[in-house]
Amino acid sequence: MLLTGGCFCGQIRYEITEPLVGARSCHCSKCRKVFSGAGSAYAEVQPDSFVWTRGGEKLTEYSTMPGWALGFCGTCGTSLCGLHNGSVHGVTLGSVDGDPGVQIDMHLFVGSKAPWDHIGGDAPQYSEYPPAD
Ligand SMILES: [Zn+2]
Ligand SMILES: [Zn+2]
Repeated sequence: MLLTGGCFCGQIRYEITEPLVGARSCHCSKCRKVFSGAGSAYAEVQPDSFVWTRGGEKLTEYSTMPGWALGFCGTCGTSLCGLHNGSVHGVTLGSVDGDPGVQIDMHLFVGSKAPWDHIGGDAPQYSEYPPAD
C-alpha cells in the first residue's frame, strides 16, 4: 500500500499501490461544479493499482460523457474518482489522505477560471487544453 484515501464521512475508503501520475487541475465551469471549488485536482491511477477497501458499493456514479463517469459518496457527496468504462481512472487529490506524492503538473481551462480564482505555483497554465506535441 502506497496511498490511502476516502470520503468525508468515512464510509468509503480506498488504497493505491502505485504512484499517481498526471496530476492536473482544470478550472472550467464543469469542473468547478463537480469539485465545488476553483476547479479539479485530479491524478490518474496506474492500472491494477487501485482497490476499494470499504464501502465501494456505496459509490454513486454520474455519467459525464459516454464511457466516463464521476464517482462520489452517496452519503456525504465527496467526489472520489473518475471512472472510464466502469474502472477507476483517477482519483481526486483532495480525497487522498496526507501527501498524494504528486504536484499539480498543469492548469487547464485557465481562460474560463472563476473571477475569484488566483492560481499559485509554477505549473504551466493553459487557456484550454495544453498544445499537442
Ligand atoms: Zn462519504
Ligand atoms: Zn474541466
